[in-house]
Amino acid sequence: MQRVLLLGGTTEASDMAQALARAGVPAVFSYAGRTEAPLEQPLPTRVGGFGGVPGLCSYLVAERITHVIDATHPFAAQMSQHALQACGELGLPLLALERPPWQAQSGDRWQHVPDLAAALAALPSHPARVFLAIGRQHVQAFLDADLHWYLLRLVDPGFDVPTTRGAVVIDRGPFTLENDLALLRQHRISHVVAKNAGGVGAAAKLAAARELGYPVILVNRPALPHRHTVGTVQQAMQWLGATAVHEAERGV
Ligand code: NAP
Repeated sequence: MQRVLLLGGTTEASDMAQALARAGVPAVFSYAGRTEAPLEQPLPTRVGGFGGVPGLCSYLVAERITHVIDATHPFAAQMSQHALQACGELGLPLLALERPPWQAQSGDRWQHVPDLAAALAALPSHPARVFLAIGRQHVQAFLDADLHWYLLRLVDPGFDVPTTRGAVVIDRGPFTLENDLALLRQHRISHVVAKNAGGVGAAAKLAAARELGYPVILVNRPALPHRHTVGTVQQAMQWLGATAVHEAERGV
């Protein structure tokens, strides 16, 4: 009998949880616990780190997990590495559900950089007004550089920046072009710094920057060893061999 561990924290993971629940596949959804009020899932949910690879191995054995689906964010490289290693050690099948990276379109002024340190270095040497769309974890290095003004968009309140140094907007995606255009204009943004997350939920800022002709510094995804990867929930369900159950339920 299958029992899936779904590693979450993304829109794709939530979509995958819906599909698993609809198909009646026994599964557990796992959150890291970074946000105060994570979205409710239609699956039994656990929250918090496993305790590295040994902790994850113990969990997989104790919970009799047969398949792992890694639908974490493309920048959550440590969790993905741990999943690869633990599944390798236990001989469990592992699938990555991952959206493709964004590709530049006509009108985009993108500079690709390998990591966040390079993104900081790529900002101008004179004060700029930067939409720093990288989440909360790594903003301090930018603030410490003490040159630019930063607009931060965060899921949870509680991270404050002096008004002379920036502003914090509390919001959760998906975001719209209309809103992001208004945000960039309202804060007189000159540069956008973002991770190349891919997907639709966070793409509006790039469309807004394109429309306004603003430069974007886009951080490349961290490299991971080869893993079996699909781009859609449907492909992931096929991988699980549960499509037939799913279709029977829908009366197809
Ligand atoms: P990370 O650096 O790859 O992981 C750090 C540690 O957090 C892991 O070693 C693991 O702890 C724990 N962890 C991460 N994801 C987990 C999950 N789904 N379930 C249980 N434990 C998890 O991850 P991160 O970049 O901090 O991201 C944390 C979460 O936020 C992920 O679930 C990710 O999908 C989501 N997220 C990340 C970003 C981003 O830009 N990085 C953006 C949006 C959402 P142990 O070693 O103790 O097991």
